[in-house]
Amino acid sequence: MQAPHESRLSRRRFCLCCVGGAAFAATGGWLTPRQAFSEARGIVSLIKDSAAASPITTYALRNNISVLEGSGGNIAVLTGPGGKLLVDAGIGVSRPQIARALAALDESPVTHLVNTHWHFDHADGNEWLGAAGAEIIAHENTRRHLSEIQRVEDWDYNFLPAAPSAIPREGITTARDLKLNGASIRLQPYRPAHTDSDLSVNFGEADVIHVGDTYWNGIYPFIDYSTGGSIDGMIAACDANLAAITSKTIVIPGHGHPVSNKAGLQEFRDMLVAIRDNVAALKRQGRSREEAVAAKPTVAFDAKWGNFVVDPGYFTKLVYEGV
Ligand SMILES: [Zn+2]
Repeated sequence: MQAPHESRLSRRRFCLCCVGGAAFAATGGWLTPRQAFSEARGIVSLIKDSAAASPITTYALRNNISVLEGSGGNIAVLTGPGGKLLVDAGIGVSRPQIARALAALDESPVTHLVNTHWHFDHADGNEWLGAAGAEIIAHENTRRHLSEIQRVEDWDYNFLPAAPSAIPREGITTARDLKLNGASIRLQPYRPAHTDSDLSVNFGEADVIHVGDTYWNGIYPFIDYSTGGSIDGMIAACDANLAAITSKTIVIPGHGHPVSNKAGLQEFRDMLVAIRDNVAALKRQGRSREEAVAAKPTVAFDAKWGNFVVDPGYFTKLVYEGV
């Protein structure tokens, strides 16, 4: 039943992390939400087509933990005889490549799936993984966002609920400890940061942590104000991450090169703080959003961080909204 699936995808799901910047770049200007959404519906096809064709790259980390890159957000995998635990599910059309990459790690089925937050590029694969028997755990707000019709007023649009197999069985609001394949795993919800549904997944013995979209490695992040995200929330999440790790910890970001560390995260945090302060100063002077963009408050960081979908102007606008 390819056709109904396709049409539901294009109506309901789009990559919030990628679409805003891509739409902005494609049109060379700031879109109204309604325009952004119609752009987004076109870009969904683009993202799906590209995910369908892109290869998955597997990085072995430590102990029995790997990370897969190439389908939306970075996907962490814990393997072992007790079954696999995935952190994030990628995009549904990548199923063949993801299934091959998982089979190459070991023969065990996926028994557990954790979503770091509700966005399409992290939870779209829930449907097939849930149907294949994975128990899905996520923040309560992820469960809610995926299971309800959502009225997005700015877009004059109603989002339909995800398929039943895609809905997390359990939604958490406080820390949850799991034990699987000898690994002690802690799911730790953040206060609202990138969205209101973010959580980290920490593998204790291996000293590996997936911090979802609270960290974009080497690229400006998207911040989803429509579901509770903010620049100050992002910075607070970075501070919580930094306090929870050491220089030996392997840090998996939501986007960007999937293997990072405390120094990389510190640099990301310092970039956010510097740009937040620059933009806040401009706003205090009474500059409009367009004037703030024209003042180039990100210029010292653009060469390193401004080369992905969230470009300098778009990131300035995201920060401006929250200061
Ligand atoms: Zn996201």
